Amino acid sequence: MSHSGTTGGQPGPQRTTDRAPAPSEPARAYTELVAGNRRFVDGAPRHPNQDAGHRAAVADGQHPFAVIVGCSDSRLAAEIIFDRGLGDLFVVRTAGHTAGPEVLGSVEYAVTVLGTPLVVVLGHDSCGAVQAAREAAATGTRPPGHLPAVVDAVLPSLRRAEAEGVQDIDGIVDVHIAQTVETLLGQSPVLAGAVAQGRCAVVGVSYRLAAGEVRAVAAVPAGLTTLDADPAAPAAA
Ligand SMILES: [Zn+2]
Repeated sequence: MSHSGTTGGQPGPQRTTDRAPAPSEPARAYTELVAGNRRFVDGAPRHPNQDAGHRAAVADGQHPFAVIVGCSDSRLAAEIIFDRGLGDLFVVRTAGHTAGPEVLGSVEYAVTVLGTPLVVVLGHDSCGAVQAAREAAATGTRPPGHLPAVVDAVLPSLRRAEAEGVQDIDGIVDVHIAQTVETLLGQSPVLAGAVAQGRCAVVGVSYRLAAGEVRAVAAVPAGLTTLDADPAAPAAA
């Protein structure tokens, strides 16, 4: 609603502001996100909602249309890869998109207080956190400091990948993304309830560092990923 609330006049040449209201349904939110990623991949970003007028318009309140639970990797900047701007995305990032209590609380805040209709788990190929966990598990070593918290959070995904016969790192990443989707829903009855009521959806996507594109890996409800514009990405488990 705040998108169209600018009163300063819209000069003709200004093309950076999306006038469409933020999508309030899960499917539309996902479509919007994928469309932004496609602009980024194509090298034709619009940089919506990054102008001074929009900055002022959203100062009084936020209505982000998607929560991003992403890896902290510096090459995974959410607003850039989805071509969005201020007030669009509620972003929570940890190494390896591990989902501890603060992450769950942040997601629940966005979904319940802000009414955000979509939660996206954003992982990527060659994820260092997944690789580090794999190394620690293989060698039986414990990394120093608080790093074991990250490693331990990834271990269930490693075990699941092993049980499924998945051995390549990017396949393991996909498993970890799907596992994170399940963790969010399993650990947060609040989120699961919103999904059951159709007010929210949870999608796991994998980002390719070189190509810049996202590919759906998991979704609840499952039908949402069929909206993925990439015909080469069949809905996975
Ligand atoms: Zn990563």
